[in-house]
Amino acid sequence: MITINEGSVTIEVPDFSKVSSRAPVFYNPVMEFNRDVSVLAVQAFQRILDREISVADTFSGSGIRAIRYLVEVDGVSEAAANDINPLAVKCIEHNSELNSVSPLVSREDAAIFLRGNPGRFDVIDVDPFGTPAPFMDSAAASARNRSLLAVTATDTSGLCGTYIKPCLRKYSARPLKTEYCHETGLRILAGFTAMNLARYSKGASFLLSHSSQHYMRIYAHVRRGARRADETLKNIGYILHCFSCLHHEDVRGVPEDRKCPLCGAKMDAAGPLWLGDLHDEKFIGSMMAEAKNKSLNKSEDVLKLLKTCIGEVGMPPGFYDVHEICSKLGVSAPPLMDVMGGLGEAGFRVSRTHIRPTGIKTDAGVREIEEIIMDL
Ligand code: SAM
Repeated sequence: MITINEGSVTIEVPDFSKVSSRAPVFYNPVMEFNRDVSVLAVQAFQRILDREISVADTFSGSGIRAIRYLVEVDGVSEAAANDINPLAVKCIEHNSELNSVSPLVSREDAAIFLRGNPGRFDVIDVDPFGTPAPFMDSAAASARNRSLLAVTATDTSGLCGTYIKPCLRKYSARPLKTEYCHETGLRILAGFTAMNLARYSKGASFLLSHSSQHYMRIYAHVRRGARRADETLKNIGYILHCFSCLHHEDVRGVPEDRKCPLCGAKMDAAGPLWLGDLHDEKFIGSMMAEAKNKSLNKSEDVLKLLKTCIGEVGMPPGFYDVHEICSKLGVSAPPLMDVMGGLGEAGFRVSRTHIRPTGIKTDAGVREIEEIIMDL
């Protein structure tokens, strides 16, 4: 066994030479960042509900999430830790004892677990191997009114368009391999979640969504009501992209066969996907405030992510990569801050993106960005 210290807990997992889904019990140290963010998100959500809450860790592995929620989040009075693997269940029981907590431990297929517990939990955490798609129907059915649905996807090669067919199969959506393909992937995951919830007359807004390392993670605030679901679906649409001049735009509803308004080339479409906000400024602000009261190993990186995400709120979908534009123009790339400053002075809104250090989100078009780059 090896001992792991994360947040305020210590757990033990069977020693396995590399991180693999074939390990007797799965534990990935790289995901500590994801779990640190999750602890803050669950805490911020508990503050919204302002009462004791229950959390379901549906793919629990070593039990680390359920245990961390019980130990580190104020107001979590109940946590379920479920995993289909019998060795994982033993490991969860062992680690619970180590940390003096008592989650409700079960060994079921996550879909059956969720179906068997409708409306039971304030927070549902879905953290499977690869795609969450096969479990989203059960998660949507199970999610209660005013709950948090947190979902991880590690099938980023499909969501980002390296492979198109898996994304069509899993998410019924077409990805597109652009410079902002990780944002498109995040929006496909968010849109898919919203559409699953709508089927059960539930609406969603997104409190935080991020694409980090090899995975994507979304936090949906679920509210019951057919009208809310209808309103939510108004945020579903497509992003049209021109590979010739890098122009992009979004359309709600099904896109027609379109020509690029700037250069006349045929545009490609990604979607259906979420075109609304991926984050909530107040919620992220509350997470940042909570970080001061927690002992998180990845605190600095988490705060950096959260700060950048706040800047993205209210910005249009997609972003421009300054280096990509410069390489099309045949000029060397100026400092990003100079381009951002130029856009700001010209009256455009502009922010960085958490997805790419050379990307900028702005309501300016590619031609205006080109002009500013050439004037620098
Ligand atoms: N949440 C864990 C963490 O943060 O360390 C990692 C979970 S790991 C990515 C996925 C887990 O899902 C594995 O422990 C695996 O045994 C379990 N699993 C795979 N298929 C499942 C299913 N259909 N239902 C429930 N658990 C499943």
